[in-house]
Amino acid sequence: MTKHISRRDFLKQAAAGASATLVPLPAIAQGAGGRVVVVGGGFAGATCARFIRRIDPRITVTLVEATPTFTACPFSNNVIAGLRDLTAQQFGYDKLANDRVTLALAPASAVNAQERVVTLTNNLRLPYDRLVLAPGIDIRWDALPGYNEQAAERMPHAWRAGEQTLLLRRQLEAMEDGGTVVISAPANPFRCPPGPYERASLIAYYLKTKKPKSKLIVLDAKDAFSKQGLFQNAWKELYPGLLEWVSLSNGGKVTSVDVANMTLVTDFARHKANVANVIPPQKAGRIAEVAGATDRSGWCPVDPVTFESKQQPNVHVIGDAAIMGAMPKSAFSANSQAKVCAAAVAKLIGGGKPDEPRLINTCYSLVAPDYGISVAGVYRPADGQLKDVEGAGGVSPANAPSSTRAAEATFANGWFKTITEEVFG
Ligand SMILES: Cc1cc2nc3c(=O)[nH]c(=O)nc-3n(C[C@H](O)[C@H](O)[C@H](O)COP(=O)(O)OP(=O)(O)OC[C@H]3O[C@@H](n4cnc5c(N)ncnc54)[C@H](O)[C@@H]3O)c2cc1C
Repeated sequence: MTKHISRRDFLKQAAAGASATLVPLPAIAQGAGGRVVVVGGGFAGATCARFIRRIDPRITVTLVEATPTFTACPFSNNVIAGLRDLTAQQFGYDKLANDRVTLALAPASAVNAQERVVTLTNNLRLPYDRLVLAPGIDIRWDALPGYNEQAAERMPHAWRAGEQTLLLRRQLEAMEDGGTVVISAPANPFRCPPGPYERASLIAYYLKTKKPKSKLIVLDAKDAFSKQGLFQNAWKELYPGLLEWVSLSNGGKVTSVDVANMTLVTDFARHKANVANVIPPQKAGRIAEVAGATDRSGWCPVDPVTFESKQQPNVHVIGDAAIMGAMPKSAFSANSQAKVCAAAVAKLIGGGKPDEPRLINTCYSLVAPDYGISVAGVYRPADGQLKDVEGAGGVSPANAPSSTRAAEATFANGWFKTITEEVFG
């Protein structure tokens, strides 16, 4: 059974002298295996917590997670297109007990990096020798005039999976045939670079099959995007006249939204929508800022070998919240980084020197249920950041037969099953 730790139990332990002062002493001085706290139980954090325990079972690992059920973003575009249930995206934390990870199910609200203590909203205080922050993203609510938390109830972002995903799905279902759907895509960097274009593809698939008189416009704050050639060729083949992409140079950047009139405003035009999906600018999850690990960009600069914060010693940041150079913000990346970070943290706690890592990412996207494309990359530390290993990555072939696209769609499904089994199973 998973070891849940309540504030009462924790205080009982403290009273019994297990952690009398709650002020952390270095683990080595205590002769123990060390204490690691991981904040955020997504693809990065849950993986890291499990792998630290597997690498060195003497280390005590507490995973702090705000919600008891994790809802995965990969494949949530299928939910929006009516091809999948949200329940297929949801995972619990019970199996983390197999690796003897202690679970604290409450949001972390403060980090005292000097005293090395994390405090949760239930007032539980968790001392650490090393802290791993993996909080994912937060929306920059102040970045797009007119777009705030109330606006997201009319114009969902659906960029954190859950209620927002279902809201966008319901709006598409309720729309009349002949309606206009508008998606706005943000400038880099943001979670899942190919995500807006996979979403556009699968919404186009839904419209083509269920509401063929409708139209989909993608307003983009960029001139180029991930797997662009592959997406655009597929759109020409599958969704001609239905899906229109407007680049930055052609006036695609949304500068404000008028929620009352369901209108997205650019420097050149006003786009009225029946359904509007605003994917707004993002930043690292708030606890990273609270911990003093973010820079002016809103993201967390880290050492590319250990993922230790460049701003807070003994604090590591992984996943979407971190600046990882050439490595994109994906679940695959988050999982790769988590394993490297786990090894580095175990080494550092044991007084060793972490090895220089090589990391892999592969991002699959579905353009239709049986049409998959992918991009892969290999990364290594260079000049203080992660850089591409030249010649080691690539994208799916341009003029592949439909059997290749169908095979990649199968691989995408297999990837999701494998990664979620590894992280939560
Ligand atoms: C539509 C869409 C499609 C995508 N498709 C793919 C794909 O096909 N392949 C792919 O590789 N990636 C995909 N991604 C990207 C992927 O979802 C993210 O890159 C990935 O989730 C990042 O992992 P993470 O652990 O950094 O953050 P998350 O997975 O978001 O996990 C963060 C966790 O931290 C918790 N948390 C935050 N703050 C606190 C706090 N203060 N206290 C406690 N807990 C906290 C949250 O509750 C959450 O559980 C997609 C994303 C989107 C939006």
